[in-house]
Amino acid sequence: MKATEVERFGSHVVKGPAADDCWIWTGAIADDGYGRFWTKDGDDQKVYRPQRFAYQLDTGKALPSSVLLPHSCDVPICVHTVRDAAESYLSEDTNKTNMLDRAQKNRHANRWSAWQFNGLAREEGAQRSRDLRDVILTHGWDPERMSAALAGVEETHPRLF
Ligand SMILES: [Zn+2]
Repeated sequence: MKATEVERFGSHVVKGPAADDCWIWTGAIADDGYGRFWTKDGDDQKVYRPQRFAYQLDTGKALPSSVLLPHSCDVPICVHTVRDAAESYLSEDTNKTNMLDRAQKNRHANRWSAWQFNGLAREEGAQRSRDLRDVILTHGWDPERMSAALAGVEETHPRLF
């Protein structure tokens, strides 16, 4: 991984002040509500889910595409990951670790987990991800505005795009 790509990736992540806070991806968000990060190495262009990129960056492990990384905090654009796999917010969801993952899920619930993306229509979920991102891009880490965006409350500021 080129240093410039790592730096560019980091410039799109806004970390909450508390240890268990989310680290929110503020770059591109696709229609599935998840982020996208594009890297370019010569003619070799790749697109990553940001949480997968963060995980690989942190652990040095390349993940096969069959391995999913569900969010224990349930915020689709969170990329919070730490080196110790047992402490990671993003756990490898293989059959083998599924039970472990379920056991860990509640452990990683934080204040941002209160908003359920599950059950939202795809477009609505994507909209909430984008609203959350736009709030952070406009106001920085502002818990009150972030909560409103995650709850689907109508915005009072102009949308970036
Ligand atoms: Zn999170």
